[in-house]
Amino acid sequence: MPELPEVETIKNSLKTCLKGQTIKSCEVSLPKLVSPDDFAEKIKGQSINDLKRRGKVLLIFLRNWVLLVHFKLTGQLIYLENPLSPPPYTHIEFSLEKGKLYYADLRQFGRLVLWPVKELDECPLLKKLGPEPFELNIDTFFRLLNKSSRKIKTFLLDQEKITGLGNIYVDESLFRAGVHPERPANSLSFEEAQRLLKTIKEILNEAINLGGSSVRNYVDGHGESGRFQEKHLVYGRRGKPCPKCQKPLAYAHIAGRGTTFCPYCQK
Ligand SMILES: [Zn+2]
Repeated sequence: MPELPEVETIKNSLKTCLKGQTIKSCEVSLPKLVSPDDFAEKIKGQSINDLKRRGKVLLIFLRNWVLLVHFKLTGQLIYLENPLSPPPYTHIEFSLEKGKLYYADLRQFGRLVLWPVKELDECPLLKKLGPEPFELNIDTFFRLLNKSSRKIKTFLLDQEKITGLGNIYVDESLFRAGVHPERPANSLSFEEAQRLLKTIKEILNEAINLGGSSVRNYVDGHGESGRFQEKHLVYGRRGKPCPKCQKPLAYAHIAGRGTTFCPYCQK
C-alpha cells in the first residue's frame, strides 16, 4: 500500500500538471470505487486548485469539492499528457483540458470520494487520523506512547495514533532505531522514543527524496518507479543476513502483519 512517502511523491509528481486544469468529463467503469453515486456528474467542470496529502490519503482540491484518493493496496493515479491507451486495470478516467488522468487498481480496494470542501473536517477518511509524523514533537510522541500498552508495531500502524506509516516504514524504522516490534509502546524510555521519532522522520525524508518504495506495483503520477526499496534493510529480506550483526533476519506475524526484524539487534 502506498504509505506517506509514496503518496507524497504522487502528489508532488502530479501537482504541476494538474493545477489549474479543468475536469471536462469523467468515466467510471467500476462504480464501487467511487462515492457518491453521481461522482462523475458532480466532478464534471470542476477546476483543480491544489493537491495536498494527509497520512496516506491524497487530497485534490476542486472548486466546490475535495477529491480524496485512498490508494489502499494497489491503487495508481497516472497522468498522461498524450494518452494513447489507458494503463492496465484503469477503472476511472478523467479527461482534462490537456491530457488525461487515470485511476488504475489491480486489486480494487482503493476509494475515490468527493466531499464538500467546506465540510472536509467531517470526512470519515480524515476525521480520526492522528498527527503527521513531521508535525509530531518528542513530548507529544512520548505522551502518546505512554498511554498505550500495545505492541510498538501495532501502535505505529494505528493511523489514529500517528498517520502515514505502514508495514514498510514501521519495520524499517524499528530496525534502524533498534527497537523490538513486540515491545509495549509504554515501555520505551524517553531516549528510545526520541531515537525512534528521529529515525521515522529521517527514513520518511529519505524515502520521499528517492520517490518512495516500489514494492507491488507502486509508481508515481507519471508511471515512474521509486528507488527507496533499494535502501530497505529489513523489509522483504526475511532470512537474509542482518545488515548489523549478519545473523539471519527473523519473520513473524506481529500486529497481524508480516514483520521482518533482527531479534539480536532490536531490543
Ligand atoms: Zn542483527
